[in-house]
Amino acid sequence: MSEHVEVPESHPRYLSLLTRHRIEEGVDKGITSRQGLIAQGRGEAFDYLLGERTIESADAAERAAAAYFLLADHAVISVNGNVAALCPGETVELAEATGADIEVNLFNRTEERIERIAEHMREHGATDVKGLTADARIPGIDHERAKVDADGIYDADVVLVPLEDGDRAEALSAMGKTELVIDLNPGSRSPRTATVPIVDNVLRAVPNITDHARDLADASDAELRDIVESFDREAALDEAESAIRNGKFD
Ligand code: ATP
Ligand code: MG
Repeated sequence: MSEHVEVPESHPRYLSLLTRHRIEEGVDKGITSRQGLIAQGRGEAFDYLLGERTIESADAAERAAAAYFLLADHAVISVNGNVAALCPGETVELAEATGADIEVNLFNRTEERIERIAEHMREHGATDVKGLTADARIPGIDHERAKVDADGIYDADVVLVPLEDGDRAEALSAMGKTELVIDLNPGSRSPRTATVPIVDNVLRAVPNITDHARDLADASDAELRDIVESFDREAALDEAESAIRNGKFD
């Protein structure tokens, strides 16, 4: 949090206030869209009901995601304005731990915002940020939203899409990609089409996938395949839904 906003860490809503502040700053810097503010609000409500914690099934999903990353020929982490505002450094660390590429991919695409996000990611240590070439298209969606890099998301076998829109999530999965989706709403189409739905706050999910990837760095392909095969996506979605429905107000 920047110096001029004073929220004591002891404040019961500290993390939620920190998150809001980062998104606000993202909008001020021109990296997050105003739509991103609304998305944040939706996510926050689900996180509140989840108890603002990583539930067990989400941790299992994060471990499966790490295993998919390590098994991938070409993994790409898709970054939008909310992810760039919330966890840029953590995203770069995940890319480094897994050998994945980073690609800026926006729902409301403007060249200016892509440039700003790419620069922001570089300031947080990213060396190569894709998304600026936009020389390939995801089949089945309208022109602006279909744009991706030919040597990035288009070529990838594994894609991590935090907070992806439902249409694009479906189109990516129709291309046969292994799709890892982080989304706090287990009823949203994006996690429902994912190979691995991760129902957790991106702020907790990204560093936890990195931790699992580091832990699995020396695992054999057979061990990694065991992890991905034993992950049950339907059970993970059901557990997340029931954690939210039974969430307590405290
Ligand atoms: P669709 O059903 O097509 O997927 P949607 O209604 O989910 O559409 P949006 O509201 O734009 O569309 O999606 C934003 C999604 O991002 C919401 O599901 C929200 O829960 C999720 N979200 C927002 N902030 C976070 C966050 N910090 N971590 C994880 N998920 C988040
Ligand atoms: Mg959604």
